[in-house]
Parts: sequence; C-alpha cells; structure tokens
Amino acid sequence: MSEQANTRVLSSGDVLFREGDRADCAYIIESGSLEISTHSEGQHVIICRLTAGEIVGEMGVIDSAPRTATAVALDETRLMVVTRNQLTERIAQADPILKLLVKILLDRYRSGLNKVKGDIGLIERDEELFSEDVVGEYIRHGIDKIRLEAELKEALKQQQLRVFYQPLLDIRRGQVAGFEALTRWRHPTRGQISPGLFITLAEETSLIVPVGLYVFEAACKQLAELQRLRAGTGQPTFMSINVSGRQIADRRFIEQAAAITDRHGIDRASIKLEITETLALDLARTETWIAHAHELGFQVSLDDFGTGYSSLATIYRLAVDYAKIDQAFVRPLNEDQRSVELLRGIVSLLRGLGLKIVVEGIEHQEQLDYVAQLGCDYAQGYLIGQSLDQDEARRILAEGPAGTQVPASSVG
Ligand code: C2E
Ligand code: CA
Ligand code: CA
Repeated sequence: MSEQANTRVLSSGDVLFREGDRADCAYIIESGSLEISTHSEGQHVIICRLTAGEIVGEMGVIDSAPRTATAVALDETRLMVVTRNQLTERIAQADPILKLLVKILLDRYRSGLNKVKGDIGLIERDEELFSEDVVGEYIRHGIDKIRLEAELKEALKQQQLRVFYQPLLDIRRGQVAGFEALTRWRHPTRGQISPGLFITLAEETSLIVPVGLYVFEAACKQLAELQRLRAGTGQPTFMSINVSGRQIADRRFIEQAAAITDRHGIDRASIKLEITETLALDLARTETWIAHAHELGFQVSLDDFGTGYSSLATIYRLAVDYAKIDQAFVRPLNEDQRSVELLRGIVSLLRGLGLKIVVEGIEHQEQLDYVAQLGCDYAQGYLIGQSLDQDEARRILAEGPAGTQVPASSVG
C-alpha cells in the first residue's frame, strides 16, 4: 500500500479498514473497487461493491462511532482521503434543516444496524456536532424555519405582504424625488415581521423570486400613479427596488421585471435596482446582469456601500450608476470627527468614480446639512420620512417632507 499527501493506493487484497476500527477519515474512490463486508451471527456477509466516484467510510467520521464494516480492495484502488475536519466543518456550516437530516439519517442507520447485528457498542457521539443542546437548537431552528417558510408562501397568496415607500430627498432641489420600496409582512398571529428576518429566509430558498416580483409589481403600480400625479410639473419621480443575489441568479427575473414596467407604462430609467452584495452575489454574473439591466433601460445602485461585502473591489468592478452609502457612516457623525472625515473620503472616492451618491440613515438636520455640504445627491432617513403607505407617499410628494429644512448650502 503506498500513500501520498491525501491519496491512498491499495493493491488487490489490501484492507482499507476493519470493522471495529476507529474512524478518522472517509474516502472517495478515484479508481478501482472495494468490497464492503461485515459479520452477522458469525457469518461473513458481503454488503456491496463500491467503485470510482463513490464515498466510503463517511458515517463513522461524522459521528465518531467505530467502523461497522470492513473494506478490502478488489484490484488496484486509488482513494482520496477526506478528513474528519473537512466533513465536520461543512456540516457545522450547513443549514439547520440539513444538519437535522444528517442526524436523523445517522440515527436510523445506527439503529437499523443494531437490530441486525445486536448492539455494535462503543458509539461515541461527536459532542460538538450532535450533543443534546446542539441537536435541540437544530430542531428549534430547523422546524421554525420550515414553518415560517410555509407561512411566507401562504402570506404571498393571501396578500399579507405589503409594500411601503420611504421617501428620498433630492438634496439640491430640496424636494422628494423618489421612494424606496420596502416590504412588510403582517402575520395574523405573530404581528409585524421585519424584512430583515423574512427576506433573509426568502433569500435562502427560491421564495425570494415570487416575493421580489410581488414587490416589483406593487412598486411599479404605485410609481405609475405617483408619476401621473406629477405629470405636467416636469419633476421626475423614481422608485428604488431591492434586488437580491438570488433574483440576479434567476435568469427570468430581469425580463419579467421589464414586462411589468411595460404593463404599467413606466419609463425604466425611473427605476433604480438596488443590489446588496452578499455571499450569494456572484460578481462575474452580476457584471453581466448589470449590463443587461442597462440595455433594458434600468438604473442600477449598489446598496449598503462600505459595509459587509459591499467593498471597494465591488464598486470598482460593477458598473453601477448610484452608490448608497450605508447608515453606519452617518450614525456617528454627530459624535466623532473621525466619522466626519471618513464620510468625506467615501464621498470624494465615489464622485471620483463618477457615481451619483445616496446617503441613508439621515435622522438629524445636522447630518443632512453635512451630506449636502459634501455634495451628495439624495438623502434618505427618518428625518425626511419613514416608510409610508400609498396614501402617505402621495401626500409627501405633493406637500414635501414635514420638519425638514432644505440645507441652505444646497439651494440654487
Ligand atoms: P435596506 O435596503 O438597507 O433598507 C433600509 C433599511 O433601513 C429599512 O429597513 C429602513 O426602514 C431602514 N431605515 C431607513 N431610514 C432609516 C433611518 O433614518 N434610521 C434607521 N435606523 N433606519 C432607517 P427595513 O425596512 O427593516 O428593511 C431591512 C432590509 O430588508 C432592507 O435594507 C433590505 O435589504 C431588505 N428588504 C426590504 N424589502 C425588501 C424587498 O422587497 N426585497 C429585498 N430583496 N430586500 C428587501
Ligand atoms: Ca435598499
Ligand atoms: Ca441600505
């Protein structure tokens, strides 16, 4: 038997492992074949023959129990070693529902084996992966998620999702120029569920696609109405709509979105598609998607700039029209000079790249004054307005935001 870093090569008749051995790794068969056998009531029983592409020895590695069968090479066999760490790390990162499934399948496998062979004994649970506390957590989490997911599907059917509109101020003109569509879920028993929770859940499943289209439809309908209200005034009105990585990955989404704008007679240049960079966002795919969105006439904005995955590398690579500076840079403005300098630097960088700048999280007049002074284009935040229902959105467009003074430095 010869061995390289993570490869093992067996000759015909070599034993890979024996029943009862401690399990410390699994193997993927690259070539050759193995015979898997066990002992039952004193008899040698052949369980199966495994060939290239199959995995062997994975069960014991997952839960630390000893090998329940013996593996012998039938001819020259090449194996790739999968270490315990490689498997357990992946399981630890998996969705709670998948963890639960692995745990249940293992338990069934073990108890089936016990029935056939008597107690195989010596089962040491992997304390970290499958301790009672941890399993309880998987169950609570997993089941909660499955329930919420089913309820979200129903909510979509029952139209329990509602779309609200947060105003954006055109800083130079001192007027509300557009809105961001934000979803809310009014659950019949749990009350209001924040989008932070259910959008994340929807993003983990393909539910974000119908949820996203629902929001898109509602937002376009509202925009068409707002634009009718302003017809003849020469003042443009836009709508920002959030688009997640999964929607970008869904080939049909952008075409369906375009069809919705056509149906409502909306000029696509008045829609800003707001993308947030998350793990689910594939940069290469997003580059192509943005080009296509531009061909169709949409505007594109990068949300939450400066935090998480929304980094310098991203803004360098993605040909967006707008960058929305995250609220995290605005919040400490009143308290500390460093954040004042940081925001100045970010704005200057984005302007250097020729982007239009939106700042979110504006809660105080001084913050608005400062971003106006820096030359930012749009401001969004509680000072200008919270998320409003359709009627309130109409009103703020007609009457302007209450209590916000147009920054003196920006008028004219
Ligand atoms: P976001 O896109 O960054 O939206 C801004 C969030 O900040 C909103 O929270 C908004 O209500 C809140 N906000 C606005 N102004 C202020 C302010 O002055 N101060 C503070 N502290 N917060 C402010 P919301 O509505 O809870 O939404 C959370 C996130 O959920 C959104 O973050 C967005 O990523 C996501 N989301 C909401 N609706 C949708 C949707 O229809 N589709 C997708 N894909 N994501 C959505
Ligand atoms: Ca957003
Ligand atoms: Ca944001």
